[in-house]
Amino acid sequence: MAEQVDVVVVGMGPGGESAAAELARAGLSVIGVERRLVGGECPYYGCVPTKMMVRAADALAEAGRVAGLAGAADVSPDFAPVAQRIRGEATDDWNDQVAVDRFEDAGGRLVRGEAVITGPGAVRVGDRDFTVVKAIILNTGTEPAVPPVAGLADTPYWTNRDAVAATEAPESLIVLGGGAIGLELAQAFSRFGTRVAVFEAADRLLPLEEPESGELVAKVFAAEGIEVNTGTAVESVAYDAGRFTVKAGPLEVDAERLLVATGRRPNIANLGLDAVGVDASGRSLDADEHLRLTDGVYAIGDIVGEGAFTHMSMYQAKIVADHVLGRGGPGAEYHAVPRVTFTDPEVGAVGLTERQARDQGIAVATSVSEIPNSSRGWIHKAGNDGFVKLVADTDRGVLVGATAAGPAGGEVLSMLTLAVHERTPLDRLRRMIYAYPTFHRAVEDALSRL
Ligand SMILES: Cc1cc2nc3c(=O)[nH]c(=O)nc-3n(C[C@H](O)[C@H](O)[C@H](O)COP(=O)(O)OP(=O)(O)OC[C@H]3O[C@@H](n4cnc5c(N)ncnc54)[C@H](O)[C@@H]3O)c2cc1C
Repeated sequence: MAEQVDVVVVGMGPGGESAAAELARAGLSVIGVERRLVGGECPYYGCVPTKMMVRAADALAEAGRVAGLAGAADVSPDFAPVAQRIRGEATDDWNDQVAVDRFEDAGGRLVRGEAVITGPGAVRVGDRDFTVVKAIILNTGTEPAVPPVAGLADTPYWTNRDAVAATEAPESLIVLGGGAIGLELAQAFSRFGTRVAVFEAADRLLPLEEPESGELVAKVFAAEGIEVNTGTAVESVAYDAGRFTVKAGPLEVDAERLLVATGRRPNIANLGLDAVGVDASGRSLDADEHLRLTDGVYAIGDIVGEGAFTHMSMYQAKIVADHVLGRGGPGAEYHAVPRVTFTDPEVGAVGLTERQARDQGIAVATSVSEIPNSSRGWIHKAGNDGFVKLVADTDRGVLVGATAAGPAGGEVLSMLTLAVHERTPLDRLRRMIYAYPTFHRAVEDALSRL
């Protein structure tokens, strides 16, 4: 006998958990289905533990900058405090009871297992069937994608899930992938004393961002002793006697650990979407502005393909909750999606890159202001690498994209996100007051050069 409920949320990532709780608090009967941990990738394997590692690694780097600024600091890196923090504060030893209680206190019910849609308004979890009156909400996220490199599958490689569970920094680490995940972990481990080599098949690091961003991170990594191999597709991986060996053309590198950070694979193929006539053969699902796939079925988060970020998942969750509750409200807009790579320097970006804007036929003007040449950057001195780049649509007189790289680049990004989101006229941006001497004064300088 199927149990009748108002809503079933399949996958309790950040957005699923938030939509499920909001709908339950509004009085609907809500089942949350989760096969791993309530909260999803972000709190247990993604954003939170990696940013704890980054925070600790940045403290080490700052200590290294004392010389030349304030005397001398004698620093002995120790990975144990950050490992304990991840285990104790971030993940409760990878136990989601706190999140489960939070959801059930909101009035929802959790069902452990893997959910499949069996027809319109019908979901099965193991041997339990649910008839869903109002909405099925899919928030199934992604898994680490492992590339088909010869030999790799047979080795005990790490993904992000293993890396955040490390109890000590390895002696050496090979990182496959020069995107945000790979670079954050590469630099964090390096600052704890790990010898790190990064391999990226594209011709630059952070290939989805402005070329200047990848160049900046590559320059800083080289200065920190991290080996960066761009334009280098790894051909084979071998593992013997506790060592990984990676071959790429004439290059051969060996290390104690190997981290695969070459992208993510969306969990959409096994959801039974064909039972409701939704095409699940692509890399993401095609949702309307209220995140609807078809009548009564919604998708949020990484699987929608509008940006694999926790803030995207939460943003879409709110739109879906409002829609299911009949509250109205605007649909999703994606012209001002912010994202931050938490390397040091941080690389924050919003909206279109210059290349994307040109490809869309926009009349583009760009400008760059270097942080070391700004008042705050000059005062800051050690660790001041960075820049602000603006991408303007000269026909409309607005910014369509921007990058803020440098110390606190992710924070400087906020004013640029607002400008792109609100389509603030360039004249208005030029006439606002920028506090002296802040890093965001580089935005004013870049505007003056547009
Ligand atoms: C190392 C790393 C660092 C990151 N850092 C950041 C960052 O700094 N900032 C940021 O914004 N984003 C970051 N991200 C991305 C972020 O983690 C995700 O975008 C975020 O978790 C949102 O994903 P989601 O809501 O789509 O679902 P997920 O968090 O992936 O959760 C989906 C859940 O669905 C469950 N599930 C899947 N299929 C089923 C099924 N059939 N039945 C039941 N349950 C199912 C899974 O077990 C999982 O718990 C990072 C990711 C990684 C890997």
